[in-house]
Amino acid sequence: MIDHRRLGRELELFVSDPLAGAGLPIWLPAGAAARHAVEEYVRDLERRAGYRHVYSPPLGKRELFELSGHLGYFADDMFPPMRLSADDEFVLRPALCPHHALVFRARGRSYRELPLRIAEIGGMYRAERSGVLGGLSRVRAISLNDAHNFCALDQVGDEVREILRLIREAHAALGVRPAGYRLSLRGPGEKYAGDDAQWARAEELLRAALDGAAVTEAPGEAAFYGPKIDIQIVDPAGRESTISTVQLDFDKPERFDLSYTGPDGSRLRPVMVHRSLVGSMERLFAYLIEAHAGAFPAWYAPVQLLLLPVDDGQVDAADAVARRGEAAGLRVEVDRAGSLGARIRDAARRRVPYLGVVGDREAADGSVALRLRDGRRLDPMPVAAALDLIGAVVAARSADLLPPG
Ligand SMILES: [Zn+2]
Repeated sequence: MIDHRRLGRELELFVSDPLAGAGLPIWLPAGAAARHAVEEYVRDLERRAGYRHVYSPPLGKRELFELSGHLGYFADDMFPPMRLSADDEFVLRPALCPHHALVFRARGRSYRELPLRIAEIGGMYRAERSGVLGGLSRVRAISLNDAHNFCALDQVGDEVREILRLIREAHAALGVRPAGYRLSLRGPGEKYAGDDAQWARAEELLRAALDGAAVTEAPGEAAFYGPKIDIQIVDPAGRESTISTVQLDFDKPERFDLSYTGPDGSRLRPVMVHRSLVGSMERLFAYLIEAHAGAFPAWYAPVQLLLLPVDDGQVDAADAVARRGEAAGLRVEVDRAGSLGARIRDAARRRVPYLGVVGDREAADGSVALRLRDGRRLDPMPVAAALDLIGAVVAARSADLLPPG
């Protein structure tokens, strides 16, 4: 069975070192390169959809998380507070919402600014039990693709629909094939904030925004502050988990006393929509590594073009191609150690999408012979044409390794 932990080791994407601690993986250069490409894509998608990005610290004062309700409702999932002095205690945040509520509150807000979409790929921590930790799928240090969209009540429906559209666009680009939508509702018990009327209204708004899409109802899976639409994935072992989510929250705007000025000058309470397009970088990559069996689409492959000089006589020519590729924005390496056959096998093991073989003839006439990861071989072509071809596939975020047409 495909296991992202084994592939992660083989492809040198990440390492889990017991000395660093369980559930605290370290991203190696290849994994970090792929993640960087995905993060840049997500930020760009969000920027074009009207999101504004912020940075906020993964640590905050105890009082912030008392106000947010996390210490009241969610403490079992958090690391214990750290005491610096008698009146100075800090907690590792389990969510970004409290900081983003402070972004909204940083100055007065007008109805003209809404929806105000505050986004961040930010760090947070969950005190998962050591027994459930494994690779990237369950971790204690999480980098979440998160945003909080502050809206007027009558904007919520359109906002949720647009978020669902963005989620589908991101999934298509990354090669995520979701298993389905889940409507996560309150369960029995008293671990929920807010009153019944708020919950009923939030649920009604989410159902309407789904526009009749097939959905499985999951009582007991709501956030403590509101119901949510979760988009589920299934790993090769059949385990289901949430990758993307949209949540409605009437509770935090009250706790943080958030308000904006309406058209008639009145003070109004916004609704807070919590959403993640692709989930945490950790869980996303656990899924992507397995879904693609390590062979990522070229646009986020750690190395996109690996140049292979046939022997030492072509090393300078291969280096020159690499510099041109890097100047064109591609991730390029030259592999000159060992026999050509061994290097080709090693590139296949690393799932490098494009190999550029440089022999005597290519070195002499400034060309390169591309071999694709799927076995296709192209005739030698001028270096500029080869770089254009790869650049076009990367720019289109295509799953195929040749440009269309
Ligand atoms: Zn949130």
